[in-house]
Amino acid sequence: MAERMLKFVTVPQAMPEKRAAEARRHDFGEIYRDFAQAQAASQASRCSQCGVPFCSVHCPLSNHIPDWLKLTAEGRLEEAYELSSATNTFPEVCGRICPQDRLCEGNCVIEKGFESVTIGAVERYITDTAFEKGWVKPIRPRRERDASVGIIGAGPAGLAAAEQLRRRGYQVTVYDRHDRMGGLLIYGIPNFKLEKSVVLRRAAQFAESGIKLELNCAIGTDITLQALRQRHDAVLIATGVYKARDIGGPGSGLGGIVPALDYLIASNRENLGDDVPDFRSGLLNAAGKDVVVIGGGDTAMDCVRTAVRQGAKSVKCLYRRDRANMPGSMREVKNAEEEGVEFVWLAAPEAFLGETDVSGVRAVRMHLGLPDSSGRQAVEPIEGSSFTLKADLVIKALGFDPEDLPAMFEEPALTVSRWGTLRVDHRSFETSLPGVFAAGDIVRGASLVVWAIRDGRDAAAQIDRTLQEKQALAAAAD
Ligand SMILES: Cc1cc2nc3c(=O)[nH]c(=O)nc-3n(C[C@H](O)[C@H](O)[C@H](O)COP(=O)(O)OP(=O)(O)OC[C@H]3O[C@@H](n4cnc5c(N)ncnc54)[C@H](O)[C@@H]3O)c2cc1C
Repeated sequence: MAERMLKFVTVPQAMPEKRAAEARRHDFGEIYRDFAQAQAASQASRCSQCGVPFCSVHCPLSNHIPDWLKLTAEGRLEEAYELSSATNTFPEVCGRICPQDRLCEGNCVIEKGFESVTIGAVERYITDTAFEKGWVKPIRPRRERDASVGIIGAGPAGLAAAEQLRRRGYQVTVYDRHDRMGGLLIYGIPNFKLEKSVVLRRAAQFAESGIKLELNCAIGTDITLQALRQRHDAVLIATGVYKARDIGGPGSGLGGIVPALDYLIASNRENLGDDVPDFRSGLLNAAGKDVVVIGGGDTAMDCVRTAVRQGAKSVKCLYRRDRANMPGSMREVKNAEEEGVEFVWLAAPEAFLGETDVSGVRAVRMHLGLPDSSGRQAVEPIEGSSFTLKADLVIKALGFDPEDLPAMFEEPALTVSRWGTLRVDHRSFETSLPGVFAAGDIVRGASLVVWAIRDGRDAAAQIDRTLQEKQALAAAAD
């Protein structure tokens, strides 16, 4: 092993080439080029194959990272793909958009002193190669089962569950209110992080696997949850969280102040070739505008970088804490800065200025005080520190809460936590309604794709167990 691996001492860390900021500012293409095979093998060979692989320990999917790095270093890519896809429904997505700096790579043993193995880039390389070479095959279950499962939501949680249930032979139908599958992978996350062809290519594999999709179908409006429960032996709710947190204060009702997801969905649809009237009219288009984005998470980062690409005159990100305390990935902040975004740290909006449409944001400087009960430093305004930023488009990226699902589904017996997320039994994933399970952001609150995949896969295993028990009981009663 030593021959091929442990090269971190002599081989420096390298990412796939990143396109120059000036070039990538003008299009929505992904910003990293592909690894060549030799480069992927050489980067994989930097893995130290340590006794306790902290990369796997800190991966929500417990991916067998050292093993597929070794296979990649040895040029055994088909086996590497088999292994990486055994624990992950979407390795091509995680390779692109997981915050590896906080998960696997951030915990890589060689990080201290030698810089981590570029795990995400190798994962992406393995999976893209597998698609290119035709190693990604439709699912063919060993035996078909009569039992059917209805899944509400075609995001990563719902789709991960669909894949796992189909592998076990269940008849699976996924319902989504949108016209394409993918959830936030298709309509939230912009192309420069995750090109849509990557999501659509996986969608094709799912369709060929016999997973049925009912799109443009909103549960609660087009079909009731009750009808769905009658149609299927089990139902999984994986609807994500979509209620945008709002901001009040003087002028907050002015035109030109828009929620982040409306803005991102319009941009993603436009890039997919759809006709988007609010983009055409300029309402959800940053071209030629002074843009202020409020917030410091991944959504805010996606908005500022989208605005740059749409040709905004200036793009500023207003965040009430400092760089060290922002929730968004540091890598994304760096990318945004390279592309010309200006960060206004420790500042919060006080009022929005303008007659009918917004023309500016009055903000106040903040300072970080003592930690509050959550352990996070409280933010306090500095008196007399107000200043004004010019803005004719303000994008609110303050986070998301769950919609009121019991009301939406007309199921008051569906219990929720005090944050509105669905309550599930933490072992069985079952909600308060028998035979109805839940997974992903709707249970966890706004989180990460990798956690949604993990939850979807775990929920599928529990649905399988429940349905098999039901079947065994029915057989015993006969
Ligand atoms: C802008 C943005 C950027 C992000 N960037 C990253 C990132 O870089 N890395 C990362 O790991 N995570 C990122 N995230 C978080 C990540 O996208 C989510 O954690 C993940 O998508 C949650 O998966 P899910 O399947 O639970 O929900 P979703 O992906 O939200 O999917 C839920 C699906 O349910 C459907 N649905 C909802 N209600 C109904 C209904 N009543 N009837 C039928 N269908 C319904 C929706 O249309 C949607 O398709 C980002 C999130 C946002 C908003």
